[in-house]
Formats: sequence, C-alpha cells, structure tokens
Amino acid sequence: MKEIRIDDINNDIVIFAKDRAKRPMDKVISENEEEIIDEYNKDCPFCRGNEHYTPESRFKIEDENGWTVRSTDNKFPIVDKFQENIYGSHEVMIDTYRHNGNFYNMNEDEFYNMLLMYRDRYSNLIKDEKVQYVSIFKNYLRKAGASLNHPHSQIVSISIIPPDIERELYISKQYYIENKRYLYDDIINEEIREKDRVINNSERFLTVVPRSTKYTGEIRILFKKSIRFENTCNEDIKELSKILKNLFSNLFKVNGNSPFNIFIHSHPKNIKSDYFNVHIHIIPRQHSFGGFELGTGLYVSSIEPKEIADKIKF
Ligand SMILES: [Zn+2]
Ligand SMILES: [Zn+2]
Repeated sequence: MKEIRIDDINNDIVIFAKDRAKRPMDKVISENEEEIIDEYNKDCPFCRGNEHYTPESRFKIEDENGWTVRSTDNKFPIVDKFQENIYGSHEVMIDTYRHNGNFYNMNEDEFYNMLLMYRDRYSNLIKDEKVQYVSIFKNYLRKAGASLNHPHSQIVSISIIPPDIERELYISKQYYIENKRYLYDDIINEEIREKDRVINNSERFLTVVPRSTKYTGEIRILFKKSIRFENTCNEDIKELSKILKNLFSNLFKVNGNSPFNIFIHSHPKNIKSDYFNVHIHIIPRQHSFGGFELGTGLYVSSIEPKEIADKIKF
C-alpha cells in the first residue's frame, strides 16, 4: 500500500510505502562509537579542570565541586561579529562536567541545569539588535556531526531568519488566516485524541512521533503554550528535563547508544506570534537519504509512527 502524507508543520511530502520495510537488506552492523569510561579526560578541552583550553565562561552553574555546566565561545565559529552581511556569535554549551555523560545517562538535575543554560544563553544572544534568530542544537556522535566526545550543545545567533523557520512560520500563519484556529493547538488536540503517536502527554508539553516526517523515527516535543523560549519559567524547564530524562532512557533501551541531532525551533526576534509554538525536533541518524530523496525533495518512509511511539511511551 502506498500513501502520500504531508508534514503539517513544514509541508514536507512523504511517500508512505509500508511494504518496503520488508525488502531484503544486508544487516547493518551498528557502528556506534566505543563507550567512554572515565568521568575526566586530561586531554579534553571541555572537562572540568581543563578550562585553560577554552575562552572564559559566558555562563556557568556551580556546586561545591566546581562548575556543572558552562558555556564558552566556539573556537571555530560558523559566524562571528566581524561581517556586516552575516553577523552573529557561536558558543559551545557543555551539557555536563562529566566526560562520560550523554543524553542517555544524564539525570534529571543535569538536564535541568543544561536547560537553564540554554535559556540563559538564548535570552542573552537574542537581545543583540543585529540578531534575528538564535538556534540551539546538538549533534551526538560522529555520524550526527559531533567532532568532540565530551557532551555539548551549541548555540548560534544570526542576523537572518533561517529558511526552515520562515517556512514553518508562514505555514502556521496561513493556517490561522484560513481556519481562524491555531495550527499547533489543532495538532496537539488531534494527537491527544488519536493517542496512537503520543509518547508522553504532560501539563505543558506533548511528545509525539509525528504522523508524517521526512526523518523516520523523528520525535517532536511541542510546547502547549505559544510562549517565547526565553519566557519559559523554571517549572517549564523542570517538566522538560523530566521528559528528556525519560525519553532518552527509553530510546537507549530500544536503540542503544545511537547518533541523533536535536534542535529547538523558536520564534525569531520581534515576531510575537500566537500561531507558532516553540518545539523541539529530535532526529535519529540511523537512516540516510538516497538518490531519490536528494534528487526529488520527496521522502520515503516505511515505518508507521505508532510502531515507534509504542516502544518508547512513558
Ligand atoms: Zn571531557
Ligand atoms: Zn520545526
């Protein structure tokens, strides 16, 4: 059975070809990178005690043993403040002082501190008058683009609005104009009603495997309120850290130590839109696109979102 599905938030077109999951395939030996054992590595620039390798902290949270999270300028930035046409800054946010930490083994407090850092750096960078957008993302394992093992996220501020954000904003605005209802409210209500794809439904967030996405296995965490990311309160952050903790421990049980990307889509500067809700995309990097996808901009999926959601629900 073949079916075409459209991703509600960005209009990506996905061809659902369920029977393709049955096609014969060589077994892919998972090439997950080796486990790192020690909490401290003397050569790692992001380890606690090795601060001299990196520029001074822009932000840190400390406990009696020293800092637990810190943010510092990226030594190899994507953008800098020296050009007029593409202006911005780029920081590395160290998720935890533990060299052997990662999203699969971090506890709720570690996620909480990391998210407080995300919010602080975001609020700070979006204030720059030349900045239009601030992107927070994370690459986990080399296959997902990570160049250093120590757990870290990145934040980039830029003087333009990225096309993917423009597109999602445009679609949510058009939806409002046509329906006089908010797209994200409708998606959230429909997902809750249909239940099948819901991984977790909490007071402030809905975690789902979207009905249609070009990335097989993608998970989205939708903010139920349309607040700006910098206006999230500590209770929001607390609830989100609990979700990340549970989600990633369940993902580990199913997929092991697998590569992924995670990024937050938030409002550009000066866009006070009720029709757009902040959300987080979590993209597993198990599959890569073939010539059909690269050559057409059409995507193929063969696994029902419900089957994925069932395995990681909490
Ligand atoms: Zn380290
Ligand atoms: Zn998005």
